Amino acid sequence: MLEMLIIGGGIHGVHLAHSLLQQTQMTHNDIRILDPHKELLHEWRRCVRNCGMKYLRSSSVHHIDIPAFSLRWYAALPENKKDTNFIPPKDRPSVELFNAHCQMVVDDHQLESLHIKGRALEIQNKVNYISVVTAEETINARFVLFAIGMGEQPLWPTWAVRLREMGVSVNHLFDPSFCFESYRADGPVAVIGGGVSGGHTSLRLIDKLNADVLWISRKEVSVSDFDFAPRWIGPRHMEEFCRSPIEQRRQQIVAARAKGSVPQDIKLAVDKAAALNQLTFITDEITDVKCQNGGALLIGRQGRYDCQKIVLATGFVEKRPGGDFINQAMNEFDLKTAACGFPVVTPSLQWHDRIFVTGPLSELQIGPVARNIVGARRSSSKITAAFKKK
Ligand SMILES: Cc1cc2nc3c(=O)[nH]c(=O)nc-3n(C[C@H](O)[C@H](O)[C@H](O)COP(=O)(O)OP(=O)(O)OC[C@H]3O[C@@H](n4cnc5c(N)ncnc54)[C@H](O)[C@@H]3O)c2cc1C
Repeated sequence: MLEMLIIGGGIHGVHLAHSLLQQTQMTHNDIRILDPHKELLHEWRRCVRNCGMKYLRSSSVHHIDIPAFSLRWYAALPENKKDTNFIPPKDRPSVELFNAHCQMVVDDHQLESLHIKGRALEIQNKVNYISVVTAEETINARFVLFAIGMGEQPLWPTWAVRLREMGVSVNHLFDPSFCFESYRADGPVAVIGGGVSGGHTSLRLIDKLNADVLWISRKEVSVSDFDFAPRWIGPRHMEEFCRSPIEQRRQQIVAARAKGSVPQDIKLAVDKAAALNQLTFITDEITDVKCQNGGALLIGRQGRYDCQKIVLATGFVEKRPGGDFINQAMNEFDLKTAACGFPVVTPSLQWHDRIFVTGPLSELQIGPVARNIVGARRSSSKITAAFKKK
C-alpha cells in the first residue's frame, strides 16, 4: 500500500511530492501523484501559455525545488545564463527559465515516474487506510493529500454564456479547449477582466495578431507587483491571521489579495499601446449583450461597445475547488468547512487524520498566499514536519 497519494499534479502537488521525498523517510515506492493530464504541471503550462505571460509575478525564491536559491543557481549555469532571465523587482524569473527549472527538478528526481494518469472520482474511508477510485482502478494509501487548484473552474459571466449560445466567438483564456496559438482576430477583440491575465492577453493580441483591443474592466486597473501585499510572506501577519477566528479569516484573505491589479511593467506596456491607439481601456461593467453581424454589442452601465470576438480573462469562480469529488469526500469523512465553504484544517493542514490539503483548500490556515507558489512552499514545510514526527 502507498504511504501517500497526492491528488493533483500541479505546482502544489509536484512540490509536495518532491518535499516528501527529500525531507521525510518516504521513497519513490511510497508516493504517487494522481492527475488526469498527460504530464505533470500541465495546467500551469497551459494557463501561462494561453495568456502569453513572459515573467512570473513572484520572486526567484518561489519555485518547486527545495533550496531557496535553486532557481538562481540554475540560471547561473553557463548553458542557462541570459540577460533576460530575471526582471526587477525581487528578481522575477522569466517563464522560460522557470519552466526549464521545473523540468530539471521533475527529471532529476524522476517525479514523472510517480504520476498515475487518472481522475479521483470517489474516496472511501477504510479506517486504517483510504481508497481512491478512478475510472481505471482503486488506489489504496495510508494518507491522501488534496492538491487541487482553481484551474478547472474558469469564471463565465452569464451574459458571456448567452452570447456564446447565440453563436458569437467567446472564449475563456483558461478553458481547456482554448488555444491562443490557433486563435485568429478578424475584427476588434474585447478582453474582459482587469487583472494581470487580461493585461497580458491584450498585449499579446496586439503583438501577435495585430488586433484592435478593447480592454474592459469593472474598475480602474491598479498597479501591484505581487498578487498580495508582500507583508503576508513574513511571519508577523501570519501569526495575527492564525490567531483570528476562522470566520474572520476569509475577509482578511479577500482584503489582502490584489485582485484586478497588474505589475508595473505590464501597466507601462498597456499605456504605451493605448497611446498608439492599439488598445482602448474601458472602465465599465457589462450588463447585457446583443448579437449583431456575427459579432457582439456589449452593453455596459456607461456605454455600448462593438466587437467581433471576446476573450474572457475573468479568472476563476471563487468557490471551493474539487467539485463533486470533494463534496463526496466531505460526506464520507464528515469533513468540516467554514461558512465560506473552505476546509477548516489543523495547523499541520490535516482535514482528517488521513487527509492533508494544500493550495486553495488550505487557505484558512496558510492565508492569502495559499494559492501561489510560496503557498506550496509553506504547505510543504507544515506537511513534511507532520511526517518527520510520525
Ligand atoms: C496565468 C497564471 C499565472 C500565475 N502566475 C503566478 C506567479 O507568477 N507566481 C505565483 O506564485 N503564482 C502564480 N499563479 C498562481 C498559482 O501559482 C498557479 O495557479 C498554480 O498553477 C497553482 O497550482 P496548483 O497545483 O494549485 O493547481 P493546478 O495547476 O490547477 O493543478 C491542480 C491539478 O489537479 C488536477 N485535479 C483536479 N481535480 C482532480 C481530481 N479529482 N483527480 C485528479 N486530479 C485532479 C487538475 O487537473 C490539475 O492538473 C498564477 C496563476 C495563473 C492562472
